[in-house]
Amino acid sequence: MGNLVQVQERKRLFIGLLSVTLVLAGLLTAAIWYLIFSPEKSGFYKLVLLLLAMALIGLILLAGFGLAGIVLTIVRSRPFVPFQGPMRVALNTFFPLVLVLGRAFRIDLDRIKRSFIEVNNNLVRARQIKIQPRQLLLLAPHCLQNNECVHKITGSVDNCHRCGRCSVNKILDLRDKYGIRVGMATGGTLARKYVVDYRPKAIVAIACERDLTSGILDANPIPVLGVTNLRPNGPCNNTDFLPEQLAWAIEFFVK
Ligand code: SF4
Repeated sequence: MGNLVQVQERKRLFIGLLSVTLVLAGLLTAAIWYLIFSPEKSGFYKLVLLLLAMALIGLILLAGFGLAGIVLTIVRSRPFVPFQGPMRVALNTFFPLVLVLGRAFRIDLDRIKRSFIEVNNNLVRARQIKIQPRQLLLLAPHCLQNNECVHKITGSVDNCHRCGRCSVNKILDLRDKYGIRVGMATGGTLARKYVVDYRPKAIVAIACERDLTSGILDANPIPVLGVTNLRPNGPCNNTDFLPEQLAWAIEFFVK
């Protein structure tokens, strides 16, 4: 129950900040609109302001529809096809502004990113996507590997000797169980290469909040279910994940 409340709160943080960002953008547009009618400005100056105001109004309206689409999709747990484009605008264009606003309010950025990941996962789950196991790519970070292990697994995860000293072993167990593809990535460049090589229809990604948010935005329109990693030894050092959470994300796409 406590966990459910936490998840609800998590989603509300991003949606709340996105709403405030849109209101602030609306106020900025109103101020620009006011300047257009200022008598002391030149005709050219007014034209530039008018074009800027029109562009902002268009963007805000689109993102407003997107926000409505996000809330409706989460509440009704089903996708609203006409809202897909505006939802993308709201998420991709306004996400950096949401972070700026969060920083201004001194909200922990990782909290905002976790909230974004939760919202994204809800939007993906509402779409009920079913694919073949080979069409699913599991992207995992290299920092899951025990830092004393000498085997190079980024080129091929099969180089892992499955000694069980780190959770790469669990990744291989899940790969064998479900028949999915796996890519161990050291960063965004290698992750993008796996996406280009395997052309997945969906992705399950394990990473920290920062890499997950950028990965979700980068992979768009490929649906990504994000699983935040565990960092008992600090960032990027012998990280871990909850196998049941990962199995649940995989099963969402392939079962
Ligand atoms: S399971 Fe063992 S062999 Fe495989 S990556 Fe981890 S430490 Fe290395």
